[in-house]
Amino acid sequence: MARKIIIAGNWKMNKTIAEAKTLVEDLKGLVADVDAAEIVVCPAFTALGAVIEAAAGSNIKVGAQNVHWAESGAFTGEISAAMLKEIGVEYVILGHSERRQYFGETDATVNQRLKAALAAGLKPIVCIGEMLEDREQEMTEKVLLAQLEGAFADISEEQMADIVVAYEPVWAIGTGKTATAEMAEETHRYIRCTLKSIFGEAAEDIVIQYGGSMKAANSGELLAQKNIDGGLIGGAALDAESFAALIKNAMK
Ligand code: PEP
Repeated sequence: MARKIIIAGNWKMNKTIAEAKTLVEDLKGLVADVDAAEIVVCPAFTALGAVIEAAAGSNIKVGAQNVHWAESGAFTGEISAAMLKEIGVEYVILGHSERRQYFGETDATVNQRLKAALAAGLKPIVCIGEMLEDREQEMTEKVLLAQLEGAFADISEEQMADIVVAYEPVWAIGTGKTATAEMAEETHRYIRCTLKSIFGEAAEDIVIQYGGSMKAANSGELLAQKNIDGGLIGGAALDAESFAALIKNAMK
């Protein structure tokens, strides 16, 4: 089975509701003819409802940037999977490196969030990636293995069908430094092999996105690689024209 291409924009802590609505309205027109890729935008929590409404009936899906593992309770500032589901959210980003770096997320908490997201019927985008010093010390594979084993502990082969993995080398996020297509493909191949060792041959169908300074100028080359099945995009997703150009170049 050919894997589908999924291109997701992570808007991070950007865009007010008004700005988010304008971005989606502009994007809708620019990507209306794209059917070979699934397009996802992930606004901040406050803009989710407005973006879902603006994207209704279009080929743009909506995701959140995080979710808590508990169903409800005394977790000030957190959002549950049921709350996201209730307003029509489809995807959720988990374990982004900024969450790990600034908010103490670990593979164990990513695993808990993942279980809650799956139980609620959300499609998780699980982020993994090495730091620059890991790559310099040739520790990339070891780091990725630990992240994959930790995030996917007690996850069944059946559940795996709904999960997207995003490989994001931390040194390439927001820095303008992109892994070369060859370097990214080599790492994606390693990730797929590792997923196969955890889940068996079913891992052949798992979508593995690349993330890290992906833009229109490099998306075509990256997406042409056998094991790169989409992108998780930060900066270039904040502008409708640049996100649409990235998506269209990737389709060539
Ligand atoms: C990201 O934050 O997931 C990301 C890939 O950011 P950027 O595209 O800006 O490097």
